[in-house]
Amino acid sequence: MIHYRPDLAALPAPRYTSYPTAAQFSGGVGAAEQAAAIARIAPGTPVSLYLHIPYCRQICWYCGCNTGAVRGDAARDVRLSAYVTALEAEIATVAARIKGCVTGIQFGGGSPNSLSASVLARIIANLRENFDVADDAEVGIELDPRALDADYIPALAAAGVNRISLGVQTLAPHVQARINRIQPFEMIADAVKSARDHGIEGINFDLMYGLPTQTETDLAETIAQALTLQPDRVAVFGYAHMPAMIARQKMIVDAELPDAELRFAQAALAHRLFTAASYTAIGFDHFARPDDAMAIAAANGSLRRNFQGYTTDPGEATIGLGTTAISQFDDLIVQNDKHVAGWRDTVLAGQLAGDRGVALTEDDRARAEVIERLLCDGEVDVGDDYPPALAALQPYADDGLISLDAGAVRLRPEGWPYARLIAAAFDAHFDGARHSRAV
Ligand code: SF4
Repeated sequence: MIHYRPDLAALPAPRYTSYPTAAQFSGGVGAAEQAAAIARIAPGTPVSLYLHIPYCRQICWYCGCNTGAVRGDAARDVRLSAYVTALEAEIATVAARIKGCVTGIQFGGGSPNSLSASVLARIIANLRENFDVADDAEVGIELDPRALDADYIPALAAAGVNRISLGVQTLAPHVQARINRIQPFEMIADAVKSARDHGIEGINFDLMYGLPTQTETDLAETIAQALTLQPDRVAVFGYAHMPAMIARQKMIVDAELPDAELRFAQAALAHRLFTAASYTAIGFDHFARPDDAMAIAAANGSLRRNFQGYTTDPGEATIGLGTTAISQFDDLIVQNDKHVAGWRDTVLAGQLAGDRGVALTEDDRARAEVIERLLCDGEVDVGDDYPPALAALQPYADDGLISLDAGAVRLRPEGWPYARLIAAAFDAHFDGARHSRAV
């Protein structure tokens, strides 16, 4: 039985999609360091590409992504076309410098399907022409189900897309109304059917808890409907309400948000329902069918974390393309210019757009490995290292959330909801600021 701990659940903790986290990024790192890191990639090294499309048809009020709405067909066409021209310039610049082998391509945003399917197909062809892309590379894309016509997914499949991530979030109409995201179940079902009919085998869903007026019944009904479609992977994220930092979230009424205890109950409910439906729990917020590559990676210790969350991508570096996109190397994290105009001017001039980030020390790299293994495998053995962290973890062991045997740290089932908080014991930079609550 997993217990709610009010003293822990509301504490802030990073999501650790990187270590150090974005809170440590500074302007002391930029394009020169990015160029050097790209040059250090040895021929044949697996790398993955992430392409950021920062536009949406309509903005959801809970969204914390770097994206904006483009209204009006003519204005949209001009802005998107200018963006793609710049993106293709950046592709050429990066591809000319890199010697690695691309094992994964991921489109995120925003809504990549704010671009037409033919433009996306052209970008994928462009990537294959410019980079050494493995034949079996995963090509994944996040899709807003509200912006798909009948021909869209077939065209993506023909272009080589083999995994789609659908933003389902919630299927409760009254919750959808409060987050400005109206999408009936049939929209999701049609997208899944179209994908499977056209050979796209990887189907991911994103769901959310902690949304305004959302109840456990709402969540249970959404999960029951989602399960009828048998997605391969499901991420269940808690809504992070930070209206002081994300202006659009001011549209969400604070008083309608579930409190910390209800959020915890919703997270626990999702865990119960998916595992009862024979999904494997992956880390602290994912579920996968037992035959899915992510469940297999979790079982054999090859699961990883990157800026997209849990991943099976074998890439030893991720190259971010597009405004705000983040590149991750073993010794450097660098983010492209967050301003579209600045990013566009830079890449159209044939330059790399890295603008801020962090260079990892040896200590950072060691801690990054500890945190990643703890959040992916649920256990890590640090031996005699990190005495202060082990001392900080003793209360968690005393409370039965972890086992602590000399330097071997293992999350118990009761501890998984607090995994981010427990991982933070190994974070030399964490000061509690600028992060969402642990549950
Ligand atoms: S469609 Fe996705 S990226 Fe766009 S506003 Fe909604 S949640 Fe954010």
